[in-house]
Amino acid sequence: MMSTPSPVALILEDEREIRTFVRTSLEAEGWQVVEAGTVKQGLVEAGTRRPDLVIADLGLPDGDGVDFIRQLRTWSGVPIIVLSARSREQEKVAALDAGADDYISKPFGVAELLARMRANLRRTRTGRTAGDSVFQFGDVEVDMSARVVRKGGVEIHLTPIEYRLLGVLIGNAGRVLTHPYLLREVWGPSHSQSTHYVRIYMGNLRHKLEDDPAQPKHIVTETGVGYRLLVD
Ligand code: CA
Repeated sequence: MMSTPSPVALILEDEREIRTFVRTSLEAEGWQVVEAGTVKQGLVEAGTRRPDLVIADLGLPDGDGVDFIRQLRTWSGVPIIVLSARSREQEKVAALDAGADDYISKPFGVAELLARMRANLRRTRTGRTAGDSVFQFGDVEVDMSARVVRKGGVEIHLTPIEYRLLGVLIGNAGRVLTHPYLLREVWGPSHSQSTHYVRIYMGNLRHKLEDDPAQPKHIVTETGVGYRLLVD
């Protein structure tokens, strides 16, 4: 179970029934929960309670959740999971590009929400401690300092671009990464329109690192949005 002290989650959601339902589920898993029903209240609670994770709705009475995310991101790197009834791809991309880490569509399952919360919390808690530079998923081992990649103990050659792409995925493990974000991080700002680069190189990585590249278990597609590295 969760180690002490309990992590604090802020839930920004204007529907009381959903807030109560999420609070009950989270508290049962050892989280402390802070509630807010408006963008304004959400920013105040985020500033004063310093949550370890934020769950944010997008349709709020005094503004848009995307604006909340953008404002929060000017001073905080806290993981943000969007929980919204808006399911159009461009709305997911807008929330992720504003700085959200993950997106769950309503109606949602509590088990999925809790799993995503654990993954996002683990990323921030482990991401900031240097030390072990070997990253693992499935039977793949990536030694970040030696720049060596092995699958099932066998060394795999990656091109510099493939290695950089893998590095960005690893640095953001568990998080949904949009096509524009990947292009900026790997190829630089001048390539922001060439999303087919991302598809080609993701295909290469899957061929080299997945057991079945057609049914990837780790480098997964978020349809119309981007990609996510699943570690467990
Ligand atoms: Ca709402």
